[in-house]
Amino acid sequence: MSLYAMSSYQSKEYDYQLIKQQSKTDVELSIIVPLFNEAAVVDQFHRRLTCVLDAMSTGSEIIYIDDGSSDETWRKLQLLSQNTSEQVLIRLSRNFGKEAAMSAGIEAARGSAVILIDSDLQDPPELIPDMVDIWRKGYDIINMRRRERHGESWLKKTSAAVFYRLLNRLSDIPIPENVGDFRLLSRRVVDHINALPEKTRYMKGLFSWPGFRQKALFFDRDPRAAGETKWNYLKLLGLAFEGITSFSIQPLRLASWGGFLTATLAVLYALVIVFKALTLGIAPPGYASLMVATLFLGGVQLLAIGLLGEYVGRIFIETKQRPLYLVMKKFIKPANRRLTGVAS
Ligand code: UDP
Ligand code: MG
Repeated sequence: MSLYAMSSYQSKEYDYQLIKQQSKTDVELSIIVPLFNEAAVVDQFHRRLTCVLDAMSTGSEIIYIDDGSSDETWRKLQLLSQNTSEQVLIRLSRNFGKEAAMSAGIEAARGSAVILIDSDLQDPPELIPDMVDIWRKGYDIINMRRRERHGESWLKKTSAAVFYRLLNRLSDIPIPENVGDFRLLSRRVVDHINALPEKTRYMKGLFSWPGFRQKALFFDRDPRAAGETKWNYLKLLGLAFEGITSFSIQPLRLASWGGFLTATLAVLYALVIVFKALTLGIAPPGYASLMVATLFLGGVQLLAIGLLGEYVGRIFIETKQRPLYLVMKKFIKPANRRLTGVAS
């Protein structure tokens, strides 16, 4: 056995034993927190979250996924204070992106309800008890809808609104507008999402895909507590493209319709030219109209090929069947109920 194989084997065994040892049946709620270079907020976030969880009588676990941070995030996570919740710390081997980090979280979650929340305090942890109350009434998905997006630019708000509208127009399943990743999912929804084999994961779409009973709760999104957003417009545009191409083939259909329309117009125009040639004699061809037609058709064709390429690219990625993420380390810190003095 090679050294690499042996060490990974040993660490797997170690993880397994840890999980077996710590695994409790009283984990009812799993809070999933993806983090990428969030050293500036992690302590503050943990304090606010544990304050909320300690006041609840629900047995919970907090799953922190360090998405390959290069700052102090991982070290700080290991030093976090104990509370009434079990803490699961997962470190991915590199930055796989928020979608992959969330997938890692929902796969590790053991709770009957799972809540995804950002670590920058834009999603207030104080809303968790309300979400759990609604879940207890029998809902499977609680979507947290943003009423106000404090601290976000006009351009970001408008582009987000346009994107959600477009996505909903194109996609076959309704994807709620203005709902980010902050939401509660019931165990059966999580199981269905975990069972999906696809590798390109647009989570906001996947969360809506299983259906079941859903409810929306409105909230005002706060500005980021500290640190900087990890998304620039180019990345957001990429995510938007991924969202549309993962959930709809309407753009392909649109390209077909575009082609059909252009071909019909071309036939009509050809008839006009033939008619004119027969009745009026052959007129010298116009340079401008030829140029415009060639450029326009060239542009449309390139666009359609590019679109096709997007879908072929998705197929290419899917056929490789690579794992969504790799875990470098995983720890479980047991709940420390005595310290907090909260009866459970
Ligand atoms: N995040 C992550 N991996 C990434 C980018 C972001 O885990 O590659 C996490 C980040 O640490 C935060 C959440 O995803 O907890 C939301 O990121 P951010 O606040 O930068 O996005 P925004 O709120 O600006 O859309
Ligand atoms: Mg944020």
